[in-house]
Amino acid sequence: MANTDYSISQLIQVEACTNCQECARVCPAVEASQQGDLSALYRIKGLKEILKGRRGIVSRLFGKGRPIEEKVKEISPTVFRCTLCGNCQEVCPVGIRLKDLWLSMRQDLVHSDAYPKKINMIRENLEESKNVFGEDNEERCEWVEDLDEPPDDLYVRDQAEVVYFTGCVAAYFPLAQKIPLALAEILEVSGVNFTLLGEEEWCCGFPMLGAGLRDMFGEFRDHNLKVVREKGAQKVMFACPSCYQMWREHYPKDIEIVHASQFLLDLVTQGKVPLKQLDITVTYHDPCDLGRGARVFEAPRAAIRSIPGVKFVELPNNRESCQCCGGGGNLEMIDAKLSAEIAKRKIEEVLSTGADAVVTACQQCVRTMTTYVKRNKIPLQVLDITQLIHMALDK
Ligand code: SF4
Ligand code: SF4
Repeated sequence: MANTDYSISQLIQVEACTNCQECARVCPAVEASQQGDLSALYRIKGLKEILKGRRGIVSRLFGKGRPIEEKVKEISPTVFRCTLCGNCQEVCPVGIRLKDLWLSMRQDLVHSDAYPKKINMIRENLEESKNVFGEDNEERCEWVEDLDEPPDDLYVRDQAEVVYFTGCVAAYFPLAQKIPLALAEILEVSGVNFTLLGEEEWCCGFPMLGAGLRDMFGEFRDHNLKVVREKGAQKVMFACPSCYQMWREHYPKDIEIVHASQFLLDLVTQGKVPLKQLDITVTYHDPCDLGRGARVFEAPRAAIRSIPGVKFVELPNNRESCQCCGGGGNLEMIDAKLSAEIAKRKIEEVLSTGADAVVTACQQCVRTMTTYVKRNKIPLQVLDITQLIHMALDK
C-alpha cells in the first residue's frame, strides 16, 4: 500500500478538484444506481483522505479518526463499480485525467489487498492461458473454421502486410465471433494481404490495467510486439477499441495502427468493397474507448453512410457525449445488475430514435446490448460496423 501507485501529476491533479459535481451529473453508474458514492467526486474526496493519511507519519501513528486501511476498504467497491467510460473526464472543467486516475486507484487497491476477489480469476487466467477467459490459447483462431471456405492456414501466415489483432472477446465469445468472421470475409473479398497471430496473440493488456494488474503488462506487450514485428507487417488492425486504445497509448509508436472502422472506410473509398443496397435505418453508438478514448468519431459514421440505402439517425447523446452501454471496466463481472441497468438506459435511448438497428464498433458493446435486448425480447438489431458492411457485401 503506497502513494507510489500515483504519478506526481496525479497527486497534483486531485488537489485541483473544485467540487463542482459535473462528473456526477454525467456518470452512467450514478444515474443507473442513484448512488452518489459512485461518482468521481466522492472517489476523489476519499482518495485525498487516504493520500494524506499515508503521508503524515504523525497522523499514521497517533492520528485520531479511522485507520487508513479502513478507508481504503470502504472506497474499494466504488472504484470497481465504474465502467471506465471516461464521461467524467470529458466534462471535468479543470481537466483532471480521471480515467487514468481510476486505473491507478485500482492498482493501489490491488497492492493494498482491498480488491474484489474476482480479480484473482483474471490474474490466473492471464498467467496460465495468456487470454482473459482462461481458454486454450491455441484455439484463438478456431472461429476461422466457421467461415464458408476457411483457408488451410486459418489465416495464420509467416509474412503479411497487415496483422489483424483479434482480441480475446472476439476470439472466444460465440456472439462476438461474428465480428472477425464478417471482417475476414470483407478482407478476403477486398484482396487484403493479412494475417492473424493465432496462438502467438496474447491479451493486449487492457484487462490488466482495468483490473489493477499493471505489473503484469510488460511481458504481454513485449511478446505481442515481437510476434507482430516477425510478420514484417506495415500495419496492425483492431476491431476491438480497447485493444486499439491500448496499443495507441501503451505500446511503442513505431508501428502503424488502425481501427477496423477506419480501415474499412479506406477500402470502401478505394472501391475495393462491392456494396449492394440495404434498406435499413440505423443509429450509431460510439464505443467509449474508440470515441472519447481515441477520438475516432467520423470514420464509422462515414462507413455507415457509404452503404447505399442505409438511413442514418444520430442518438440524442452522441460522439463525446455518448452514454456507455454498461459493458466497460469489468463492471459486468463485479456488478452485473448495475451493468444491465446502464444497458437498459442505453437501449431506451436507442429506441427513442426509431432505428431498426444500433450499430457500434466494439465487440463488448455488441455483447452487452445484445444480451439486454435478447433477455427483454426487444425487437432491435445490434450490429458491429463490420457486420453491417458484411450484410451489404455484394459477393
Ligand atoms: S468513468 Fe464513467 S462510470 Fe466511471 S466514474 Fe467516470 S463517468 Fe462514472
Ligand atoms: S468534474 Fe472535476 S472538478 Fe468537478 S467535482 Fe468532478 S472531478 Fe472535481
